[in-house]
Amino acid sequence: MFDRVWLYCLKCGGPLEAQSKAGDRTLADYNVTDVPPCVAGDIDGDDLHCEQCGEQWTVQTQVIVQLVPFWHHPKHRAESDSDDDY
Ligand SMILES: [Zn+2]
Repeated sequence: MFDRVWLYCLKCGGPLEAQSKAGDRTLADYNVTDVPPCVAGDIDGDDLHCEQCGEQWTVQTQVIVQLVPFWHHPKHRAESDSDDDY
């Protein structure tokens, strides 16, 4: 099992699939805006080949560390959602 991160070729816009064997490996699909840090770390430096135009790319990741308001974090948001159900 693996997770997939979808990127798009900067030359032709074709889809590029980076596979990660880090983290939960739930066959999840991520795009560049929602990649978990462990998955991003795993695909960092991967070489990808665009099957549409033949261009080659290397994945370079940058992790953003920041504070968000407590209830904005997905783990707390899930808690507050389930509270609403009862
Ligand atoms: Zn391409």
